[in-house]
Amino acid sequence: MLRVLLWVTLLFLSTAVRAEGYIARMLNKPVPGGVAVVQLGQAQQAPVVHFGDRRVMVLREATGEWIAVVGIGLETPANSKQRIDVEQDGARRGLSFQVGSKQYVAQHITVKNPQHVSPDTKNLKRIENELAEQKAAYRQFSPGLPSNVMLDRPVPGRLSSPFGLRRFFNGEPRNPHSGLDFAAATGTPIKAPAAGKVILVGDFFFNGKTVFVDHGQGFISMFCHLSKIDVKVGQTLERGQVLGQVGATGRATGPHLHWNVSLNDARVDPAIFIGAFKP
Ligand SMILES: [Zn+2]
Repeated sequence: MLRVLLWVTLLFLSTAVRAEGYIARMLNKPVPGGVAVVQLGQAQQAPVVHFGDRRVMVLREATGEWIAVVGIGLETPANSKQRIDVEQDGARRGLSFQVGSKQYVAQHITVKNPQHVSPDTKNLKRIENELAEQKAAYRQFSPGLPSNVMLDRPVPGRLSSPFGLRRFFNGEPRNPHSGLDFAAATGTPIKAPAAGKVILVGDFFFNGKTVFVDHGQGFISMFCHLSKIDVKVGQTLERGQVLGQVGATGRATGPHLHWNVSLNDARVDPAIFIGAFKP
């Protein structure tokens, strides 16, 4: 009798509480610099979703339900309501989601090269051009689904500087830390955290030797400060394939890997995708 009661209770609970899928459980961290997973319901075809004018990644949970995986830029106001536009089975609708807050600490860094703090006109021109190239890479949207959304760590080693640090270089305020740093020795092989296509390779003023990998659906990784690049633009990478080696090129105080993860052109905390997010 007790067993029957227990089963009835469990059955009731499982229908009353809408089951949250695996991806939502792992990735839904709706804060500035985080990710919002928005439930889109059942539909024959994948809905098309935009956040502002950027296309958003849409996946299907194991439950059969479609979800939008929305990157929330660091500049998004804390404790704000945001809206995505959803086109589904010929109809359009808006869906809102709530963004919470997160504290990001300040970090003071001393660099030797004064050009890395206050670049001259010639370097400013170079930086501007390189920024345009990198922005264009982040805006790409290819329809293929990512091989995996929970990513592999691109290198072993301790996590050093976290995402979102409010940065000061030689006392001057500069852009916040847009990625996650791994402490690793020069020459450590860097492995693709998911399958993808190389969409940009360069030797940039701040980022040094850099590789951009498109994992599909606007889910893009950038790897910086490499000592050596082993891939070419257009090349397809398997999950785990070596793309280059750790170094200290560009604005770096020592050898480490700087890894950015972007969704819908918003840089988000890579720690979320390796199960290391700290609220
Ligand atoms: Zn970094």
